[in-house]
Amino acid sequence: MTDAHPTWCSPRLCTADVPGLPLHGGEHRSEPLELDMRRVFTTHGAVEVLTASLTQAACSWTTETFLRLVTGDQTEITLPVVQAAGVIAQLNEFVTTNS
Ligand SMILES: [Zn+2]
Repeated sequence: MTDAHPTWCSPRLCTADVPGLPLHGGEHRSEPLELDMRRVFTTHGAVEVLTASLTQAACSWTTETFLRLVTGDQTEITLPVVQAAGVIAQLNEFVTTNS
């Protein structure tokens, strides 16, 4: 099922078809999106750069796609894109309703 690469998968970063890996191993990975957070957080020591990317395990069954957020100090948050989309939609509604 997941032999094909997702449309967002970067051939440069994908490890799904690297020779030597098990038949269905590795990970599809998107190009990273770097978000400059210096205008968002003004507190000293706060996150300056937040890198977002998509990832999905490469295997013979259907798997979820995850959003991976990594801060400059390599703190990582990973959540299913379905949940991330819900959180983003709630934040968008909250911000637009209250601004
Ligand atoms: Zn891939």
